[in-house]
Amino acid sequence: MATVGSVREITRQIQSLDISNKPTSARPPFHSKQPSQTNVAKLLTKYAAPNPSYVPGQNIMKSAKSAAPKAKPQPHMGTTSVNQAVDIGHYDGGLELDNEKRCEKISAEAAQELALDSSNAPSYPTREWSLHEFDIGRPLGKGKFGRVYMVRTKTEPKYILALKTLYKSEIVAGKVEKQVRREIEIQQNLRHPNVLRMYGYFHDEKRIFLMLEFAGKGELYRQLSKYGCFSEKRSSRYIDQMADALAYLHSKHVIHRDIKPENLLLGLNGELKIADFGWSVHAPSQRRRTMCGTLDYLPPEMVEGKEHSERVDNWALGVLTYEFLIGKPPFEDRKSVNNTYRRIMRVDLRFPPGMSAEVKDLIARLLQHEPQERIALTEVLRHPWIMKYRPMDCNRGSETY
Ligand code: AMP
Repeated sequence: MATVGSVREITRQIQSLDISNKPTSARPPFHSKQPSQTNVAKLLTKYAAPNPSYVPGQNIMKSAKSAAPKAKPQPHMGTTSVNQAVDIGHYDGGLELDNEKRCEKISAEAAQELALDSSNAPSYPTREWSLHEFDIGRPLGKGKFGRVYMVRTKTEPKYILALKTLYKSEIVAGKVEKQVRREIEIQQNLRHPNVLRMYGYFHDEKRIFLMLEFAGKGELYRQLSKYGCFSEKRSSRYIDQMADALAYLHSKHVIHRDIKPENLLLGLNGELKIADFGWSVHAPSQRRRTMCGTLDYLPPEMVEGKEHSERVDNWALGVLTYEFLIGKPPFEDRKSVNNTYRRIMRVDLRFPPGMSAEVKDLIARLLQHEPQERIALTEVLRHPWIMKYRPMDCNRGSETY
């Protein structure tokens, strides 16, 4: 069972991962003695991963746990080390199962394209990693290209991570080699408490493995489905974090382009984490025309196939705010996709009774037809509806709800 000591330990591990991602010349060897607290503090930036507070017995991964079939206990379980005491759950043998069922060889050209290894990354190269360096725990979920597991590194200091597998043959079949490369490259370079951190990646003949920050409270979408909608307070706290994370992404010339509840995860303290960069684009100054994203969240300029800028994310933030509060996106029309398009083009925004004047003002300012008229993210962060619910001691990335 996890102890208070183990909470501190996970915190320290995550902090030291930040250090291990510094360029090779500057970072100490991975297995070297842990730096002192002072050194850790020195090396930490405001973009360091937030500190999870794992509470034993709280069963933060309830949904994943219940989904996990019974399996053999792992050999590491039951040892006395503090880190080993953190329960990563039981491995279901899914990787071997997949390896038999869904693994096909790919062409030499595709193999070259997908030979992704963060130890060769131009910025933030990591040490070399491989699958047998992890103890694999409970399944966290299944994505389009493979399963995600809670894992722990076998060597000290035993990092807790989410390991996402991507089957190369399926990436090739879906013709998304470039998109996957782009997603990985973008995410690897981002550092913000509300952006899911990618610590590294490696591959074998048939799979790519992504070492991701463990989002202990899982999918935000699941919460939204469970409760139907969120209170204004809870929505405001999420939108505050979203706006801050999007402002950070835009400052790095990254447009997300696929903001929706399904792409958001929750950290151990309930803090929001933008995940899934499959549609994001690194766009230094140029504008894009590609049609992408989810219909309900598309802004007028994308519906019309016009060029678009980072302001598409501001629009999506408005849609998200509405969906958090009402439980469905503002322009949804279940009968006809064309009607949804039409409603988006007309900005046919209807507020049901019960919404505060402040939030209606914010949504209306975000859902402006003309991208340049949409409220800037810096202004969103100062908006009365955001300020009203922001805790006095707001320390983004460590909120609880
Ligand atoms: P994805 O392939 O990213 O869609 O992931 C599939 C599912 O795995 C998600 O819907 C989540 O439930 C879970 N998952 C993915 N990444 C993480 C993570 N970093 N931490 C916790 N759960 C995750």
